[in-house]
Amino acid sequence: MSPYEERTAPVAPFQKPFFRPQTMHHILEPDDALETFLAAQGAPAWRARGIRRWLLQQRATSFEAMTDLPKQLRERLAEAFTVLTTTVASHQQDPDGTEKLLLQLADGERIECVMLRDGVRRTVCISSQVGCAMGCVFCASGLDGVVRNLTSGEIIEQLVQLTALLPEEERISHIVVMGMGEPLANLANLLPALEVAESAEGFGISQRRITISTVGLPPALDRLTESCPRYHLAVSLHAPDDSLRSKIVPVNRAIGLDAVLAAADRYWEASGRRLTFEYVLLGGLNDAPQQAKALVRLLRGRQALLNVIPYNAVAGLPYREPSGAARTAFLEVLREGGVNVQVRRRKGGKIDAACGQLRRVSVGTASGEPVLHTQIPIKSTSASTAPKITPSQASH
Ligand code: SAH
Repeated sequence: MSPYEERTAPVAPFQKPFFRPQTMHHILEPDDALETFLAAQGAPAWRARGIRRWLLQQRATSFEAMTDLPKQLRERLAEAFTVLTTTVASHQQDPDGTEKLLLQLADGERIECVMLRDGVRRTVCISSQVGCAMGCVFCASGLDGVVRNLTSGEIIEQLVQLTALLPEEERISHIVVMGMGEPLANLANLLPALEVAESAEGFGISQRRITISTVGLPPALDRLTESCPRYHLAVSLHAPDDSLRSKIVPVNRAIGLDAVLAAADRYWEASGRRLTFEYVLLGGLNDAPQQAKALVRLLRGRQALLNVIPYNAVAGLPYREPSGAARTAFLEVLREGGVNVQVRRRKGGKIDAACGQLRRVSVGTASGEPVLHTQIPIKSTSASTAPKITPSQASH
């Protein structure tokens, strides 16, 4: 018998074939492993829908909790699948209602996700990668480069962990993929996760309420345009010309603004949805009136919203917010030039809510408990407003 035959030898007739993956499979991964497992167990296929409803809508975090499943099936599921692969390494709450989770992944890496409350809106900001390869000079996420892409299951798990912060009668209403990472560099895993976010059996979040934010990678953006132009697109500009943009967003050196804008225009044509351009105002760097004038010329004729983002200072980086006068002058030029401009309100300022900030200031101690480097002079975490750090899982 060849080794191949040995491995595929039929199971004895009295043994039920049993799905035994080499490693535990993540149940939130949007694939057909659950269906395969149920078939191997001789369980009806419709059980899969019920199990997903428990996980995504009824907030079950264990198979034990799925009380309408036969006990034996629950036990078998628990042997084959993990429900949550992340633990809450820290949980911060801002007095403005913003909450931020630092999640520890199964391999020890850490990512961030945020819940923002605004009236009835419950917007979550989720990560797509561990770290980021784009290298935007002012951003904390990319300072150590990219470690890896998140799996679809890990992206969905952020929604599960954030939903757990809400009272039972509340649901996530909006998603912005504006956390750590470059979403277009991980489209293959992001899109299946967003499908779960949208689907009626999943989180039921309308596609109109899902925003993908990108530095603008034209080939990937074109793939999105061809396959799935239904989400809201936000493109991070941060400068009105190539020479400045390449300094602030280094990946621009190999791409160029023209190519970014042309790909964004193709997305706009396919989606019919107004584009958003993001512009983080950095004092003395991209906030001069002539840069505002150049922006007016760049955006002229485009159906677009310019989202001006106040800079959230990152410890150790030399960038700062512009003075009030510089900001007012900058905005005035834009408005006079007919640009549809909106200034993003700062949220979670007291808890390092900008991308990648919390991951950088947290380190594991011997006990595995995260600590804050309080000696790092983060503008927004002065002693009087120190963030509340609760231990792992405290909020669950
Ligand atoms: N890679 C994507 C997602 C990044 S996060 C992108 O570049 O769009 C979403 C937005 O937050 C981006 O415009 C990013 O430049 C901005 N951002 C990152 N760090 C920031 C900070 N410290 N303060 C303000 N905005 C920041």
